[in-house]
Amino acid sequence: MIKTEVVIVGAGPAGLGCAALLKQMGIEDTELLVLEQGEIGETFLNWPESMRFITPSFPSNGYHQTDLNAITPDTSPAFSIGKEHLSGKEYAQYLTMVTEHYNIKVSTQTRLHSVVDLVDEEGFLLETDTLTIRCNFIIWAGGEFHTPNLSAFTGAALCNHNSQIKQWSDLAQGEYIVIGGYESGVDAAYNLANTGNKVTVLDFIGNNTESYDPSTVLSPYTAERLANLSELGQVELDDAFNVASVHKAGELYVVTSSCGKVLTSPFPPINCTGFDINLGPVSELFDYQANGYPSVNKFDESSKIRNLFLAGSRLYHDPTLLCFIYKFRGRFFAPCSVIGEELALDMSIFRHYKKSGMILNDLSCCVEQECFC
Ligand SMILES: Cc1cc2nc3c(=O)[nH]c(=O)nc-3n(C[C@H](O)[C@H](O)[C@H](O)COP(=O)(O)OP(=O)(O)OC[C@H]3O[C@@H](n4cnc5c(N)ncnc54)[C@H](O)[C@@H]3O)c2cc1C
Repeated sequence: MIKTEVVIVGAGPAGLGCAALLKQMGIEDTELLVLEQGEIGETFLNWPESMRFITPSFPSNGYHQTDLNAITPDTSPAFSIGKEHLSGKEYAQYLTMVTEHYNIKVSTQTRLHSVVDLVDEEGFLLETDTLTIRCNFIIWAGGEFHTPNLSAFTGAALCNHNSQIKQWSDLAQGEYIVIGGYESGVDAAYNLANTGNKVTVLDFIGNNTESYDPSTVLSPYTAERLANLSELGQVELDDAFNVASVHKAGELYVVTSSCGKVLTSPFPPINCTGFDINLGPVSELFDYQANGYPSVNKFDESSKIRNLFLAGSRLYHDPTLLCFIYKFRGRFFAPCSVIGEELALDMSIFRHYKKSGMILNDLSCCVEQECFC
């Protein structure tokens, strides 16, 4: 049995960002372990080849405007990779550099199966295929990429979820239906059209003019690509097609809208409706808000169980969804402040994080801030 103070589950930007902060606070090597079911940056390694970050990277850290995709104030993917819109592989490379620089211990190919809260004693008992671990704190940073949304409409399992496509150019040529018109739907349409296919995108929601929160409105990067697409003439958008079901009739896939419109395609439609909120082995250890997101307190700790924290893109503090790296990195300090207090770590690094815009306390920020033009 391994005994340690803190286990972080997931070696993505959220898990490694918290780990790097704890290391800078002086946590001992033996007191911190990151578990990763695949390799460092597994989600990004699984992105389709052609996919790029929509959030631009720029090495502006010195001016207190930390690279939007950096997970510590003193690193920058733009600086290390030399690109503004990184591919998944390049970002995984950046995450590996961060792991090495801060000397973070990551156990790769180690999937966490179960967590028991040792109610009578202190702490948790964790089981992986090969390890039994006893720890006092858990930060769940398992992300969402591994749980595609297969319940957005009846028959979603008949479709290809966009996260499961490795290479758009591997798909047979023809006419495709893309379901969901936010970032990933436009990305799918762009890549399919660029490889000579005709595409119909259904339920286009990207032109939300009510908000400028990047969680609800298309990024400029995607909007620009969309403008290029209309010039290609290969893509049609139907923003009034609310998909109710997909079924197979002979060789054809039949997509039906909630008001009875029908479209068919010889290929499985591409499901771009996003991901489920599924916290895997810690699901039962959280309560949930009315919108399905886990309930956490102001330290991002489960409202049900002490010393179990949530980091990353599933964090929702009403009214703010912290789904992008530059948003959720502002919360790394929250679990680390509780752990730092308990383990008597040095928290002076928080001042540097604050100066770098990496401490987000005011969670109404994006809603209250106005963008006049
Ligand atoms: C197409 C696409 C484009 C995107 N573009 C951007 C962008 O431009 N900018 C941006 O900020 N965000 C972007 N995102 C979102 C970004 O990918 C997520 O915000 C980010 O990956 C979330 O980081 P994370 O660390 O929470 O999760 P992840 O990066 O998914 O990391 C979670 C890790 O946990 C591991 N894991 C899960 N379960 C277990 C387990 N039981 N045991 C052990 N390990 C486990 C996984 O293997 C994974 O490595 C994009 C997402 C997609 C799908």
